[in-house]
Amino acid sequence: MPLPSVSQFGALQCKAKCKSTGVRCLNPAAFSMPVCRYHGARRPETILKGPDHPNYQSGLETLAAKRDRSTHAAEIRELENLLLVLGMVPPQTKMKHGRKPMGKARPETIALLQHAQELAAEG
Ligand SMILES: [Zn+2]
Repeated sequence: MPLPSVSQFGALQCKAKCKSTGVRCLNPAAFSMPVCRYHGARRPETILKGPDHPNYQSGLETLAAKRDRSTHAAEIRELENLLLVLGMVPPQTKMKHGRKPMGKARPETIALLQHAQELAAEG
């Protein structure tokens, strides 16, 4: 049976359900939250992020750092691919680790190459 604040006075009831029984939590929800304090209600401004978080170490593994690293790796792959397509890679050259592009270029790269060749042919 829910608390009187929920059953009689219209307070929002926690939306959490028990995993094993499926019974809904009877507690009132926290202020401006869909769940009660036992089920994870927390004001966003109290959540520590970035350098303020106790587990923060160096900032090298933040989402932004990972995104930058992925972008740079994609650029290096594209440059290697371009070198392979142009035949500018000498044999037994150490390439970047991982799956190789096998000398195939993306359609955008091929179009860029064709445009550069047309410009070179014009003078
Ligand atoms: Zn709850």
